[in-house]
Amino acid sequence: MFSKAPAANDPVATNVNPEAKLGIDDLKNMTVKEIEAKIGHELTWKQKLGIKMLKNKAAKAERHPEKPAASGSTLIGLLLGLVLFLIGVLIAYIAFAMKECHQRSLDRSRRSVGIVFGGIVKKTSINQEFVGRRDARSIASLFHLGKFPLLPYLYPHKTKNQGLMKLLQDKVALVTGGSRGIGAAIVKRFAEQGAHVAFTYRSSAAQAEAIVAELEALGVKAKAYASDAGNFAEAEALINAVVADFGKLDVLVNNAGITQDTLMLRMSEEQWDKVITTNLKSVFNLSKFALRPLMKAGGGSIINMSSIVGITGNAGQANYAASKAGIIGFSKSLAKEMGSRAIRCNVIAPGFIETDMTEALDEKTRDAYLANIPLKRFGKANEVADLCVFLGSDLSTYVSGQTISVCGALHT
Ligand code: NAP
Repeated sequence: MFSKAPAANDPVATNVNPEAKLGIDDLKNMTVKEIEAKIGHELTWKQKLGIKMLKNKAAKAERHPEKPAASGSTLIGLLLGLVLFLIGVLIAYIAFAMKECHQRSLDRSRRSVGIVFGGIVKKTSINQEFVGRRDARSIASLFHLGKFPLLPYLYPHKTKNQGLMKLLQDKVALVTGGSRGIGAAIVKRFAEQGAHVAFTYRSSAAQAEAIVAELEALGVKAKAYASDAGNFAEAEALINAVVADFGKLDVLVNNAGITQDTLMLRMSEEQWDKVITTNLKSVFNLSKFALRPLMKAGGGSIINMSSIVGITGNAGQANYAASKAGIIGFSKSLAKEMGSRAIRCNVIAPGFIETDMTEALDEKTRDAYLANIPLKRFGKANEVADLCVFLGSDLSTYVSGQTISVCGALHT
C-alpha cells in the first residue's frame, strides 16, 4: 500500500524519512502517528512542521491545479485572430473614407481607394489624369477635417505640407470667356483654390491653350472649349461636353461679354442684337443647360458678370447697359426659382477694370472715370476674380440673389 521511492530531491521527505521507507505520497496521506509507527521512532518538531507544510502544499495544489502552458497552436490562433481584426479595421476605415468622399464627389471615392492601395487600384479611376498629386490633396483635405487621422501615416509623403483645405477644392467650374481679361483671372484664381476648370473662348485659341497649361501646372484638370456663348445649341453641347469630361458641374460663371458702344442715334440693329445676344442671351443659354448638372451635384453657384453700367446706365452704351441690367433681373429671378434646390445665383457688377475691353476706351473717357473713382485707381481683374472665389465657394452658402459691385466705390 506504501509507495517505495521517496522524492530524492524533496528535503522534507529525506529529512523525515532518511531510510527511504516512505514515498512522498505516503508522507502527504499518512497521519504523524502512522508515520512514526512506520519509521519506528518519534518525529522531531521540525519534521512534524515539514510534514504539515507538505500536506498544505498538496491541498493547495489540489484546489488550484496548474494550468498547462499555452501550446503552439493556441499562439497561432491568437495571431490569426489579431490579423483578422486588423483587416476588419482597415476595411471599415476604407469604407468610411469612401463614404465621406462619395458625399463630395463620386470621382474622389475612386481616388481614395487608389490612395489607400497605392498603385494597385489607382488605374481603375475613370479620369486617370486626376490621379496623383491632386488625389493626395483631396485626401489630405479629409485629414484636415480631422476625420481620417491615419492617412498621414499611410501616405506621409503625399499628405505633408498640404496646408489648409482650399476654398474650391475639387469643385468643377465652367467660366465663359476665360481666355482674356477678367475671365482669365477667374480661371487662374479658381485653379489656385483647387477647382478643376473648364472655360470657353470665341477666337483666342492659342491664348486659351497657354492658360490651360498654366492651370494644369497648378495641379488641377483644365480644358478650353471654343464655344459661342450666345448660341443656344452650342451652349447645350458645351455643358454636355463639360459634364462628360469633368464628371460634374458645381460652379458656372457667365463672364463672356462684349461692347459695341455708340450713341443711340447711330446704333444699328446689328450692334443691339450682337451685344444683347453675347451678353444677355448667353446667360440664359448657359444657365438653362447648367441647371440639371447643378441639381445633380446637390446644388451649386451661378455667378453672372454684369457691370455698374447695368445699374446706373451710361451714355453711348444703351445696348451694353440693357444687357447688363437684364442680367440683374434674370439672376434675381433664378435665385428665387432655384433656391429650394440649393442653387445660388449672384451678380458681380465691376466698375472700371483694366482689361482689353477698357483698353479700347479713349484717354478722355478713362480720365473722366478716374476722377470719379473714390479709390483713385482702376480695378484689377484679380480683384473681381477674388469675389468670384467667394461666391463660388462654401463661404457664401447663404448669399443668393445679390448684386455686388467691385468698383472702388464709383457706384455707391
Ligand atoms: P475682355 O478682356 O474683352 O474678354 C472677353 C472674354 O470673353 C474673352 O475671353 C472672349 O474670348 C470672350 N468672349 C467674347 N465673346 C464671346 C462669345 N460670344 N462666346 C464666348 N466667349 C466670348 O473682357 P473683360 O474686360 O475681361 O470683361 C469680362 C466681363 O466683365 C464682360 O462680361 C464685361 O462686360 C464685364 N465687365 C468688364 C468691365 C471692365 O472694366 N473690364 C467692367 C464691367 C463689366 P476671345 O478671347 O476668344 O475673344
